[in-house]
Amino acid sequence: MKVHRGADHVATPAGEEHFTGRVWISANFEADAPGGMNSHDVRFEPGARTHWHSHPDGQTLIVIEGRGRTQVERGELTTLRAGDALFVPSGERHWHGADPDAFMTHVSVTGEGGTAWDGPPVTDVEYG
Ligand code: MN
Repeated sequence: MKVHRGADHVATPAGEEHFTGRVWISANFEADAPGGMNSHDVRFEPGARTHWHSHPDGQTLIVIEGRGRTQVERGELTTLRAGDALFVPSGERHWHGADPDAFMTHVSVTGEGGTAWDGPPVTDVEYG
């Protein structure tokens, strides 16, 4: 058994390359879990969101704080609330982020393939 301690988490700014607005990421575990899975806590400040992207091996998201929104390519905006869990299939392009007036934190679990940053920033019109 291996235990990753929450006390060891280090929040780092996600940077502007793949995100709009201020986003903080801390790793829960990376690549040493069964199946090569990775997990991160991702905290979005109000108005912040990912760029369009996909996950070669899919993604599980569990919202643990606040209010946010997500959208699949050619799909409707979908609200996110604490306690919601999402399953994003392999290769499905999407984005996720906070509402304009709220923080949103989710736990992300991805497979070995991680994230494919294969899309542009989410426009203000798309964001709503
Ligand atoms: Mn994603």
